[in-house]
Amino acid sequence: MEWSITSITKIRSIVFLLILFSALAVSVSVWSSRAQGPTFDLVIANARIVDGTGNPWFKADVGIKDGRIVRIGHLAAAQTSKYVDAKGQILAPGFIDVHTHVESIYNLPTAENFVRMGVTSLVTGNCGTSATDVAEFLGRMPGKPLAVNLATLVGQGSVRRKVIGLDDRAPTVDELKQMEALVEQAMKDGAVGMSTGLIYVPGTYAKTDEIVDLARVVARYGGLYATHMRNEGDKVAEAIKESIQIGEQAGLPVEISHFKISNKKLWGQSPMTLGLVRDARSRGLMVTVDQYAYTASSTSLESRLPTWLRAGGLEEAKKRLADKATRERVVSEMKDTLKRSGQKDFDFAVVASYEPDRSFNGKSIAAITKLVKKKDDVSNQIDQILEMYVAGGAGMIYHGMGEDDVKRIMQEPFTMVASDSGVRRQDESVPHPRGYGNNVRVLGHYVRELKLISLEDAVRKMTSLPAQTFGFRDRGLIREGFAADLVIFDENTIIDRATYDKPHPFPIGISYVFVNGELVLSGDQLTSARPGVALRGPGYRATTGS
Ligand SMILES: [Zn+2]
Repeated sequence: MEWSITSITKIRSIVFLLILFSALAVSVSVWSSRAQGPTFDLVIANARIVDGTGNPWFKADVGIKDGRIVRIGHLAAAQTSKYVDAKGQILAPGFIDVHTHVESIYNLPTAENFVRMGVTSLVTGNCGTSATDVAEFLGRMPGKPLAVNLATLVGQGSVRRKVIGLDDRAPTVDELKQMEALVEQAMKDGAVGMSTGLIYVPGTYAKTDEIVDLARVVARYGGLYATHMRNEGDKVAEAIKESIQIGEQAGLPVEISHFKISNKKLWGQSPMTLGLVRDARSRGLMVTVDQYAYTASSTSLESRLPTWLRAGGLEEAKKRLADKATRERVVSEMKDTLKRSGQKDFDFAVVASYEPDRSFNGKSIAAITKLVKKKDDVSNQIDQILEMYVAGGAGMIYHGMGEDDVKRIMQEPFTMVASDSGVRRQDESVPHPRGYGNNVRVLGHYVRELKLISLEDAVRKMTSLPAQTFGFRDRGLIREGFAADLVIFDENTIIDRATYDKPHPFPIGISYVFVNGELVLSGDQLTSARPGVALRGPGYRATTGS
């Protein structure tokens, strides 16, 4: 019996120890879960969510952890480090601007004009001009961090310039190979596709076949072809057909940049131009377009001059202009182009920035000619343009579109909202207001004031459609697992304040902007956060396996 009593005591001790250990284990696990901290870094509550799909808004809280949306639901009791009460405002995915020119963004890393429009991701390298070393360009992050995410296209014009210079001729076999190799490297380094600017030197000197050859390289890596077409005026239909032909022959998606009709005589023809895109889509080619919400465009002064004159660059053009007969030919071609565009003179052409004389900024070529030459005829206006071109050129705004076409293009399901802007420095020159107002103008003017499209559709055009088109698979929607790029805005007050005369005022109505879960704009205040990341294209993933 002694033995059994001892045994029972031993068993009791073992049981006691087991209970003690398990209790300790439980308390340790409770303690360690507390040590991991709250479930979320941020909870956004009391928002009406417009999730980017185009669906009607719904109410839910959003929980964010490590830069990602991890929970959508009822999170009132959740543990969180930070809490934002949206007070019934709209919570949407951060806007993705697929048509920008921000090669200089590392000098202005806050990208303030974009952030204040609710933009969280930018695609640069448009209209044929980009960094040719994409690895170096995107690789500057994280050493030089940005407030927004950044992707780039590789510009066909920049590639051609590097290999052939500014010559107006076809490439040799060897030069074509060199251009293909540059495009291939750019795709491997993370370009999302290739852009062209077929009114600019030297991109304009490339015939369709040359572009198809380069686009085939892009297609192999899953990129897209984005184009500032050869013509947006009297030959816009031919230019759309060329873009589609390139997509069909090379086998890749086509994005037509800043889709418009800039010829007064063709105003009202957007059903025809949109029809060409729809036809291509019905044949199975993925074609999409982007648009800024204004009736004026903005580009260089030299884009008004014949392309043959600009071959070889400014010094060559100066020599040609010194020849009287050549100059006469230039003037007569410019008069012809003006007439075909449906404009009676250059009053529609307004200077945005002219370094030799900043007093020209904000004035039309017609007004400047009157001031300088005391004349108002077209010949004198063309002389004025040529003088300004020779003196270094100017940035311009061209009032050339019809409002009905802008509206019709905006209503099309495959149209996305994109600014065509660069990073702006406050009060520098008189740039196009789109860089300060584009997204907000769509939400305030076209959605609320004109009721042209729904709020949900407008957000879709700024978020999931661009993400789908440019391959940002974990952005552009409010979804668990997606990157926490978010914007909160007041749909009842949101409006742009930038005008053609005074383009620098920031918009109102944007309350918060988050990039990868970090707050970059809170009310009126930019924060010091620089959470932007490089968004690299499918060629990068294919070659690195990541
Ligand atoms: Zn362009």
